[in-house]
Amino acid sequence: MRLALGFLLLLLLGALLACNGSESDGDANVQAQATIQAAIASVNATLEADGGDRAPSTATPVPIPTPTRSAPATSTPAAQVSPPAGGSDFRALDNADYLLQSEPPSARTIQELQWIADGITSDELETAEHLTQLAAFHQEIFWSLVNKPWLQDGLAEAEISAVKSVLIIAQRDGDAAERVVALRWLSDAITDIETSAVEDLALIAQSDADGTLRIAAMPFLESLDAPDVAALRSLQQLAFLNPRVFRQVLTHPTLRDGITDEWAQIVATFNGVGRTNPALIDTLLDSERVTVESRAIDLPLSGAVMLAIIRTGPGAARSMDLLETAVRNSEEFMAAPLPVNYVGLLYELAVAGSSAGTNFGVSITIRPKFDVDDGSHEADSAGHIIAHEVAHYYWNNNVDWIDEGAAELMASVSELARVGRPLDAANYPCGYVTNLAALEFLDTTHESNAFVCNYSLGERIFLDLYRRLGDDAFRQGFRNLYQRSMVEDGTDDLPGTLVEVDDLRSALSAAADGDTVAATIARWYDGSEPFDTNRLDFRAVDAALPSVNGRIDRSYVSSAVMGQPLSQFSARDVSGPAYLNLEYSYRITGDPVEIPLQIVESYQDGFAFRRRSAAITAQEGYQGGKQWLQIGPPLGERWALGWHQVQVYESGRKLAEVQYVVTP
Ligand SMILES: [Zn+2]
Repeated sequence: MRLALGFLLLLLLGALLACNGSESDGDANVQAQATIQAAIASVNATLEADGGDRAPSTATPVPIPTPTRSAPATSTPAAQVSPPAGGSDFRALDNADYLLQSEPPSARTIQELQWIADGITSDELETAEHLTQLAAFHQEIFWSLVNKPWLQDGLAEAEISAVKSVLIIAQRDGDAAERVVALRWLSDAITDIETSAVEDLALIAQSDADGTLRIAAMPFLESLDAPDVAALRSLQQLAFLNPRVFRQVLTHPTLRDGITDEWAQIVATFNGVGRTNPALIDTLLDSERVTVESRAIDLPLSGAVMLAIIRTGPGAARSMDLLETAVRNSEEFMAAPLPVNYVGLLYELAVAGSSAGTNFGVSITIRPKFDVDDGSHEADSAGHIIAHEVAHYYWNNNVDWIDEGAAELMASVSELARVGRPLDAANYPCGYVTNLAALEFLDTTHESNAFVCNYSLGERIFLDLYRRLGDDAFRQGFRNLYQRSMVEDGTDDLPGTLVEVDDLRSALSAAADGDTVAATIARWYDGSEPFDTNRLDFRAVDAALPSVNGRIDRSYVSSAVMGQPLSQFSARDVSGPAYLNLEYSYRITGDPVEIPLQIVESYQDGFAFRRRSAAITAQEGYQGGKQWLQIGPPLGERWALGWHQVQVYESGRKLAEVQYVVTP
């Protein structure tokens, strides 16, 4: 069953669900995984019955006697050539005797296929069995399939998979299989996306054979473009995970005449919408309310890619530019082709849990509040969120901190390239555990509060490695890790290989000094190496405000606005944020003067994690003022224990600095 397993794993690709870390994640991933695994088990069971049993098809309604029963013991086929040297012979196949006896033209046609005639190798055996089984039980389908030009010469992996998919569909519904075999794009050479489409039709048949029958006749499958493949993958997941929504989509009045190319991009969002906000489906199928903005781009490595943004309300014109930039930066940094050729982005309240965005594998959903260009905090983080979700096309199904950390790093790299934002941590430091080994021990799920540490510790180990190894060596090692994650290992039900810390160490060591790699990983993984605080700013403070004849007189941290100064406090005593308080004096005449400030928070692990803007406005008639600013963990997150500092800058000059220690 090795080949069958490979096929099934491939189908799992669409089950990926990954979320942006700027808000906490939901639980859809876990549920999806469990359900998909159940489905896989069911497909596996079918194939075991087919391949492992001499009496094929346990579930078929076709009333043909099983070959072993009807093949007479006296059967003596004429002119049987002796088995060629290359492999086993047609006669060794499960249904051979039956076919020679009852369907001689089918037997002859199979025997004459070039890759059968020259001996059946182990790679070809399963497909040979599948063909004889089709011939034994589904004559019409067999004849439509066996004459395809791509079945005449050797067998490519895509062709092996296509034959198997047709058999799976035939076992469920002969009419559906006939329609699939008749699809125009199956008549010439088979491409990878065509294989993926037939596999999805087979998996849909596993859950809903009538669904495959209907979908195979729909206009969007007349020719197969990238959004059509995405729509089919989305339908396949719906059929598994959400049969009620699957039926709702297939019977929706808007799609009365079937899904057209025009609607394929909308349908491609439904695997995510079905899980997170199924009430939206009616809205998304209302042509008066939904808009699709598309852009065709050509990437240096992966070639033609279709981008689409789907909305049901107003949005920002620049969002498509942000998406294109993220996709380009992503491929450039990875130096490996973008793994998809369709990227659909839905701006809707259909994300996992409270996350900002989710990559559902087929398409991305981001909350509409980030589809703005108004100078707000949301507008400021929009580019990062898009780039994070795009990065998940490369990084998924690995240890959580690798997927989220890699996506955060790539988002920060993309934003550095786009707007020059300094490459620093984007997440508040982890307040739950001190290292990644402890985080793995917690075995966090998406519902756990501590799940955020997959983002914060994950991005820090990658950022630190990037700083230590330099751009060239890091990217080579990062690419090694990605390539390793793409290799099918067959040890679990997930596609590719689930990479973890040992893979990270060896992938990077192949591209850079092994001791440096090991020491840097140890710092974050088990805490056995000290943090590197060399990048923090320990220069002296210059409190003067010369442009207004003034200075910062006092700066301190407190647990309440303008409260008691604290240099140390217990996380138990300060449940919400803390405050940075500034007191300043000046003396001016004439027009008010505004002094722009930058506030930077950093942590003992050597990373600044938050940079914000503020301003002091000096006005004639006043001699000074006070300001305060919230600092510390985002709402709902725990304080990170240890040493923190917050610094205030004017054009790079340090005006104020406060250090404080958080104890348990
Ligand atoms: Zn994510």
